Amino acid sequence: MKRIVFLLTLSLILAGASFAGVLDTPHLESGLQIRIDNRYWDVLPQIVPADQESTVSFVPLFDHVKLIDNAVYELTYTPMEFEPIQGGPKAGTKTVITPEDGRISITMLFEEEQEHDFILNRTLDGKTNQVGRFRIYSLKSDLYGMRPYKGDFHQHSNRSDGVESPAYVAGACRRVGLDWTALSDHHFRGGSIEARDFFADLPIDLRLYPGEECHSPGNPVHILSFGANEGITEQWKDDLREVYDQEVAEIQEGLSDVPEGMDKFHYAACIWVSKKIAEFNGLSMLCHPYWVTGNRYNVDERLLNHIFATRIFDAYELISGFSWDSLNNLDVNGIQVARYVEECAKGNRMPVCGIADTHGHERSDQFGRYYTLVIAPTTDLSDIIEGIRDYRSVAVETPKGELARAYGPFRIVKFAKYLLREVLPQHDELCFEEGRLMIQCASGDESALPRLAQLQGQIARFYDKVYSPVN
Ligand SMILES: [Zn+2]
Ligand SMILES: [Zn+2]
Repeated sequence: MKRIVFLLTLSLILAGASFAGVLDTPHLESGLQIRIDNRYWDVLPQIVPADQESTVSFVPLFDHVKLIDNAVYELTYTPMEFEPIQGGPKAGTKTVITPEDGRISITMLFEEEQEHDFILNRTLDGKTNQVGRFRIYSLKSDLYGMRPYKGDFHQHSNRSDGVESPAYVAGACRRVGLDWTALSDHHFRGGSIEARDFFADLPIDLRLYPGEECHSPGNPVHILSFGANEGITEQWKDDLREVYDQEVAEIQEGLSDVPEGMDKFHYAACIWVSKKIAEFNGLSMLCHPYWVTGNRYNVDERLLNHIFATRIFDAYELISGFSWDSLNNLDVNGIQVARYVEECAKGNRMPVCGIADTHGHERSDQFGRYYTLVIAPTTDLSDIIEGIRDYRSVAVETPKGELARAYGPFRIVKFAKYLLREVLPQHDELCFEEGRLMIQCASGDESALPRLAQLQGQIARFYDKVYSPVN
């Protein structure tokens, strides 16, 4: 009995160790790691429709993992959350499978929206070894037709206080795996337009959108305008300044029921900016409210309380790319997440974003490690904005050497955690070469173009493989 307990304990320790070890691989530029089994095997598909029967195949890609004719292969299945009740296999079900066409395939009902774990054991000459561990995710139909897209709203080029030119920043964004992005220079939408126009006729898949970080006169609140078809700063410049002053004053005069001690002008200016962004079809976002400047938080707590209570912005910057120095000094992101949790508990749910706020893309720990993941039908601007508004986004952080974390709605966070481990690392690796070639283009070297053209569409092809069986 003692020996059995010992063996059981040892096997549990080894099982734990082997699973912990699978992420012990080099970090990609994006901070993620490709799980060894996902390197050596194709899993076709990785994502299946929930509550339907699907066939999934595990295909060894290399000689060192090839299937052996006289070996016995056994799959152990475990659903992560829901014990099947509609006829799908129960947790712990073992199935002996004979390889066919060089692959291990199983057809079964994948119940509910959840992650499914498969351990593949091989018995040969009396010895049993684990040869692979694979993860499938089943999605309900509302999300199944969509794809995960990584992006950022908030970063700076040398057209404001950043370091690199707009076209360079765009290439750097693709290199870390972003599918869509917007430069948001201070007081200037032009940098984002320059990046977009530089690549407009070139064969790239990164989508570049307009952006701008707005600081309207007299208002300390930083507000991001994403996707607007006009610059917001232009609306208070030069002879329009009087109009701004007058309109903000009118908003201020019309305010009622405001908290005692709150600066009414600041609040009225926030409303003005938010309305302008909406007027130009953009998405407005409250930037880094707990950023520490001048030894205090950027936004006075009375004003912030009222901003949250009245929901004047479309989205909330939940995770911001603060430098390690500033985070060591004060964990601002921790404060921002705590505030989000508190607001949700009060019934004040809000769309969230993660951003890098990078000012120098080659010398930043934050760049590529803080971003937004949106589940959307395409990377079109309207789909990204709708995805944010519809609570299909999470804020992601993948700090160097630490776990990848996602914050936001529970359902999307769970799915994002799967994607960050099982799907996005390969996605990011594919993007790297495109980004490198885009940077080459930004230097004026057109020899990168034929190779870029060959790569165009590769993420769509990759997602087709992830979501549908390939024969
Ligand atoms: Zn700012
Ligand atoms: Zn900024």
